Amino acid sequence: ANLFEIRGLNSVIEGKEILKGFDLSIQKGEVHAIMGPNGTGKSTLASSIMGHPKYEVTEGEVYLEGEDVLEMGVDERARAGLFLAMQYPSEITGVTNADFLRSAINARRPEGDEISLIKFIRLMEGKMKELEMDPEFMHRYLNEGFSGGEKKRNEILQMLMIEPQLSILDEIDSGLDIDALKIVAAGVNAMRDAKRSFLIITHYQRLLNYIRPDFVHVMMQGRIVKSGGPELAERLEAEGYDWIKEELGIVD
Ligand code: ADP
Ligand code: MG
Ligand code: MG
Repeated sequence: ANLFEIRGLNSVIEGKEILKGFDLSIQKGEVHAIMGPNGTGKSTLASSIMGHPKYEVTEGEVYLEGEDVLEMGVDERARAGLFLAMQYPSEITGVTNADFLRSAINARRPEGDEISLIKFIRLMEGKMKELEMDPEFMHRYLNEGFSGGEKKRNEILQMLMIEPQLSILDEIDSGLDIDALKIVAAGVNAMRDAKRSFLIITHYQRLLNYIRPDFVHVMMQGRIVKSGGPELAERLEAEGYDWIKEELGIVD
């Protein structure tokens, strides 16, 4: 069975239909990349999967390990193993990075089996070191005053700590310089194994030089219009999106 499956998803924001019959299947251990022009609905897809209240799913199905995701509340989706590293992470005053992560981890563990404080701190220190993050970020309020790049790195820290079944990374590369991009990619690659899957949303092929995807999908006008391997991303980088529009007769 598929780890994750989306069938015929339609999603509406402020009365406007953005996702139009979106289909995608992801098996355990696979890395899928979604590329597409700005405004094509990539972030809408991510938010709709996570259950963001602004996005109304009007049609279609989403399953994680056979469980109906659309029936789940937002917290339940996270507990079930879905994770979104956001394009624009929000700042939360009064909640430290450590507090936030410890509750996120414990929410996924059975009651009475919470991670000990010592173990948690060791784990967090180790992961922060991997990501070359300053230890002071442990006790900073979540994303408050973080630069764009620090926010992105912090999203990856959360992913490494929570170890989700399916990690969705929405334009994690934007705002990262090449050194930070390599560190972030190394973090993702270290987490790759036969069980965990990734959906990497990106505007640029550059990231995919460091995180080699198994499949590349092109998204236009709210659905996938073309799929291939990493060579598809390379062609998009070299030639842009116009050839696909011509090939498919898309007028915009
Ligand atoms: P992408 O991530 O591919 O750039 P988005 O999913 O962010 O695309 O946006 C898809 C479309 O939905 C765009 O036309 C955008 O203007 C619209 N949209 C996204 N978010 C909102 C919002 N909060 N309110 C109104 N329209 C939105
Ligand atoms: Mg965008
Ligand atoms: Mg976006």
